[in-house]
Amino acid sequence: MLFKLLLTGIILLSPFSTIALEIKSEWVQGGVIFGKTDPQNKIKFLGHPVRINAKGDFVVGLGRDAKPEVIMVETTPDGGIKSYSFKVRQRKYREQRINGVPKRTVNIPEKALPKIRQEMELTKAARRINSDNQSFLQTFQWPAHGIISGVYGSRRYYNGEPRRPHYGLDIAAPQGTPVKAPASGTITLVHDNMYFSGGTIIMDHGHGISSTFIHLHKVLVNKGDKVKQGQLIAEIGSTGRSTGPHLDWRMNWFNQRLDPQFLVDDMPSVK
Ligand SMILES: [Zn+2]
Repeated sequence: MLFKLLLTGIILLSPFSTIALEIKSEWVQGGVIFGKTDPQNKIKFLGHPVRINAKGDFVVGLGRDAKPEVIMVETTPDGGIKSYSFKVRQRKYREQRINGVPKRTVNIPEKALPKIRQEMELTKAARRINSDNQSFLQTFQWPAHGIISGVYGSRRYYNGEPRRPHYGLDIAAPQGTPVKAPASGTITLVHDNMYFSGGTIIMDHGHGISSTFIHLHKVLVNKGDKVKQGQLIAEIGSTGRSTGPHLDWRMNWFNQRLDPQFLVDDMPSVK
């Protein structure tokens, strides 16, 4: 019942003051949850301090396997503490079997481990960035048009062997197809050839929200570039562990992996 009320945007009043917490999105696994509170308040979620802008806007995210109930703790300037509990809709994920994946990327040779570890650190560092960029509030656009060939959360089997779930949204399109920034932001990582992800870009949209684009044929931006929504940033490719040209778009709230499909409308028809 509480869940229903929150969905319709009803404002909850904290018993400690007149300060309100408003939640504007559905609590669902992989979800991106927008909210509003008094900018003087402090919020903690999943052990993370939540950045709140001058108007009180904030965003948090839920990972693929988020628990059925989550807690948000709000501290008011007078020292009052209120914890809110939210029910999280649990999803059923698809199963995807992929054959013909090159052996070298399924069975990892020991000598590749230092490179893989170093790349994981670079990726983690980029996703840890907590900037006051406000681009996360924009209406996101599709970074490329094509056929959805893989969805968020699916369980994957490579050549019959179970692997980590898929966290991206795959858009299949020919090599060289333009990749455009889905929202504005700052480029925080570029790499020409990561072991698994090949040509890779990470972009910060602010407040812990980032986009990752992988398997790129060409990277057309540099680290530190400030990019506008719709700006050309890369070309689709099939680099790294990939079986054909596609864009794999991932989104994060810090280390929580989000479903990009919650931020965009249906794919417009391909020209
Ligand atoms: Zn993918």
